[in-house]
Amino acid sequence: MLLHEQIEHLCESLKLNSVPTHWSSLAEQCIAQDKSYGEFLLSLLKCEQQQRDERTRNLLSRMAGFPAHKELNTFDFKFATSVPKQQIQELSALTFIERNENVVLLGPSGVGKTHLAIGLGLKAVQAKKKTRFTTAAELMLQLSTAKRQNKLKQYLSRSVMAPKLLIIDEIGYLPFGREEANLFFNVIAKRYEHGSVILTSNLSFGQWPSTFADDATLTAAMLDRLLHHSHVLQLSGESYRLKDKRRSGAITE
Ligand code: ADP
Ligand code: MG
Repeated sequence: MLLHEQIEHLCESLKLNSVPTHWSSLAEQCIAQDKSYGEFLLSLLKCEQQQRDERTRNLLSRMAGFPAHKELNTFDFKFATSVPKQQIQELSALTFIERNENVVLLGPSGVGKTHLAIGLGLKAVQAKKKTRFTTAAELMLQLSTAKRQNKLKQYLSRSVMAPKLLIIDEIGYLPFGREEANLFFNVIAKRYEHGSVILTSNLSFGQWPSTFADDATLTAAMLDRLLHHSHVLQLSGESYRLKDKRRSGAITE
């Protein structure tokens, strides 16, 4: 068997996916630059690791279920003057995830809550942290379905507890019934001090009971856990969605 075929076979059984395609060009480079065998091996291993990391990031990104690709560096802080740029930059260092802290983004429609939540989620995925994006409505549907099918425990451990970062978008658009509110409380209580949550809502905290079956006690107990270790960002201003319409004269007031 030829040398490169033997290498290919060994790499396959050792699950070294990048070595077969890269070793010969790296070897040539190393010869041309008078590098030692040790340096060749190091650059080959680095190459394997880089490609592996890239595959992990792509996989995590697909698994996260982001509804769109919105990076923090495309966020216009000059337009959104209510958004504390420095705080977002600090959050993007992701220490809040290591500390199991939460982030709550509050504000009216169109001010960039979802954009910022996805942007932080993409940072987490880049740092190889398992992330899951969902909306409150979708989460609720899945929780209720899992409960009905007697699979709540599995659902909670697989989809609620497994991610390092859980993003729950759009709390408050759809009000929840009593059972749903209880299920949601469960999610927050389970993740409390175990894993980070990013939440977005168009409602101020005072209005939250209206979305959780008018249960002020349950909502207070939930907010207590949610806000104990948290970063709350109150956004305001006009909708970015309407910005261009306004400029073109479609909206005049
Ligand atoms: P919200 O979730 O608060 O309703 P979104 O994050 O969905 O708002 O923002 C609406 C749209 O406007 C999205 O396409 C988003 O990328 C964009 N957007 C909002 N604010 C900004 C901003 N400051 N800079 C760039 N794009 C923005
Ligand atoms: Mg949104």
